[in-house]
Amino acid sequence: MSDLPQKSQQEYFEQSKALVPGGVHSPVRSFKGLHTTPRFFKKAKGAKIWDTDGKDYLDFCMSFGPLILGHANEDVENSLKAQLARGWSYGACEPYSLELANFLVERLPHIDQIRFVNSGTEAVMTAVRLARGASKRNKIIKFNGCYHGHLDSLLIKAGSGLAGTSEATSAGVPSNVTEDTLILELGDLAAVREVLERHPNDVAVIAVEPLPANNGLLPQPIEFLQGLRSLATEFGAYLLFDEVISGFRMGFGGMAEQTGIEPDMVCYGKIIGGGLPVGAVAAKKEIMEHLAPVGGVYQAGTLSANPLAMVGGLETLKQMTPEKYQQLEANTQKIVETLLEWFKNYDNGKFSGLNIVSRGSLFWIHPGAAPSNASNIPADLTDKFYELFSVLLEKGIYLAPNAYEVSFVSLAHDDQTIAELKERLYS
Ligand SMILES: *Cc1c(COP(=O)(O)O)cnc(C)c1O
Repeated sequence: MSDLPQKSQQEYFEQSKALVPGGVHSPVRSFKGLHTTPRFFKKAKGAKIWDTDGKDYLDFCMSFGPLILGHANEDVENSLKAQLARGWSYGACEPYSLELANFLVERLPHIDQIRFVNSGTEAVMTAVRLARGASKRNKIIKFNGCYHGHLDSLLIKAGSGLAGTSEATSAGVPSNVTEDTLILELGDLAAVREVLERHPNDVAVIAVEPLPANNGLLPQPIEFLQGLRSLATEFGAYLLFDEVISGFRMGFGGMAEQTGIEPDMVCYGKIIGGGLPVGAVAAKKEIMEHLAPVGGVYQAGTLSANPLAMVGGLETLKQMTPEKYQQLEANTQKIVETLLEWFKNYDNGKFSGLNIVSRGSLFWIHPGAAPSNASNIPADLTDKFYELFSVLLEKGIYLAPNAYEVSFVSLAHDDQTIAELKERLYS
């Protein structure tokens, strides 16, 4: 990396803004609202990431989730090197995706077929089309505060009127698309029933993040997910678990395994590719075979099941034994306790109003009591987060640069990292 040009963070960002909209290739990277420029990183290893000035940070963003083993894990690196030597794209059948598919289908009782795509967005887009094609229905139920990627039909928030009405969260999404997406509040089963009764034969799919983790961390009671399961069955809609974050993180089998609830369809992303671009849609064979070339629901990809990404994903997933999940959760608890303790102590209790909600190896920092849905997230969240983020950044501790994003712990966040966290917090 010695050949990088000598530029300040500000110079990198200015150049980037001239060449790329807002200077970024994904909006949350822009540090919007954080009153400082984004850091440009040049390398990462384990739990650490280095900016182009050479300053290192303990990373709690971890590429937003895929790197459950930590940055640049050696076994993954070796599997990638071995694949590089064999070529990195064939656009044809190969045994590497087959090995990953087999590894997954053997371990996940709720699926017997899988199709690999290149991102979580593509996985959800495919699942929605599959649900509509297989059911010959149009409408989608989605929950306020759940994120399912940037496909038109799910880039939609609750409208101001009746339960179930909606408006686009993005320009460029036509109103005839928003009409078919019905938005409800997490936890409100009565509203789900009401909407299903209002459209008795037209809801194709109920989509949910079984552990909502994209708009704060909003764990739901199991009764809510069980209720969705039985309502979907009663009304002939498919239940889609979007496990792009929770899959292979809340235990290997994600929330489907943890709750014992069997979704009709499941989407994976992030960890499934171990940091390379992979997504997947999976279900039982009867449903999956509606996809082309067997069925009439079209889906395709030039780089789908890219062999490099397949071996990286498989090597990552192979390492995730039950003991590793216990270790992850125990270390996450230590990190959470360390932070909570420091919140009380720092600068006469400047951050003592902050709390942390955590599940598995995810945690989310928020002011006040833990919110149960998107509508009761406190309004001062962003201001409080901004103060905290700046102090931590200075100390060499990197959180995801947005108040609504959760933090991710990896297996590289070991006791030594935790000791270093304490040192940096109190320095
Ligand atoms: C990240 C995420 C997506 C989108 O995945 P991309 O790979 O960013 O397209 C979809 N759903 C959930 C739950 C996610 O966390």
